Amino acid sequence: MVREIEVAAVTQAVKALSIEANEVLGKDVLDCFQEALRNEESPVGREVLGQLIENARIAREEHIPICQDTGLAVIFLEIGQDVHLVGGDLKEAVHQGVREGYGEGYLRKSSCHPFTRANTGDNTPAVIYTDIVPGDRLKIWVVPKGGGSENMSRLFMLPPSAGLAGVKEKIVETVKEAGPNPCPPTIIGVGIGGTFEQAALQAKKSLLRDLGSANPDPELDQLEKEILDQINKLGIGPQGLGGRTTSLAVHIRLLPCHIASLPLAVNVQCHASRHKEITL
Ligand code: SF4
Repeated sequence: MVREIEVAAVTQAVKALSIEANEVLGKDVLDCFQEALRNEESPVGREVLGQLIENARIAREEHIPICQDTGLAVIFLEIGQDVHLVGGDLKEAVHQGVREGYGEGYLRKSSCHPFTRANTGDNTPAVIYTDIVPGDRLKIWVVPKGGGSENMSRLFMLPPSAGLAGVKEKIVETVKEAGPNPCPPTIIGVGIGGTFEQAALQAKKSLLRDLGSANPDPELDQLEKEILDQINKLGIGPQGLGGRTTSLAVHIRLLPCHIASLPLAVNVQCHASRHKEITL
């Protein structure tokens, strides 16, 4: 049975989620802040974590953005193969939702031409990824992505001989070189394998996973914990002012790759880890 969904409903959902994502930090992130506060030994680090918790409260209660950088609007769509989208162009409906959400929510417009730096004026075009899945539902994630942490992200086409040791080394090196720039404590999204572009997309998708949740693959779960432990020995700390809480989590997704390749993408996410979702 084919189920019809009006694209106007997509516009409304993207608009509402754009505002909510920028104002309401998820419970998973807040719980991680609290846990980090309990474990942080540095007084300055504890002070910063306390400020992040207070900042999130003020944003939520006063309906203002968690951060002045309200990001590029990254949208993931999982479209059931039994869904028939009617009433217009799906991608235009998403752009319109971003336009309305960023306009009516008084969110900063961060999209510009790479050379002239002329602002597009309404935070479009949105960055849209679509995936076709079984079923008759449409799932939408809105993931505003700040520039500071995106700038510290890296893609490596490693030789296969680099192996697991080389992968671990590059992830930790990326966080070390980023230092205070990506507004730590960060979440480190990692994509291993696939092709050049798949590795980057897997790294970004890994950021959709709730903080504190286990990786469904027990070996990757163990690897995430091991790398997080190494990162949190770097001493960068909250906002780069020193301490053990440099990152809150490492999230890894892995795909098979070419016999001649070992792609690795590290997508750094700042503490303003914003993602909201709805299923239509
Ligand atoms: S990196 Fe994140 S916390 Fe830092 S300014 Fe950008 S959006 Fe804000």
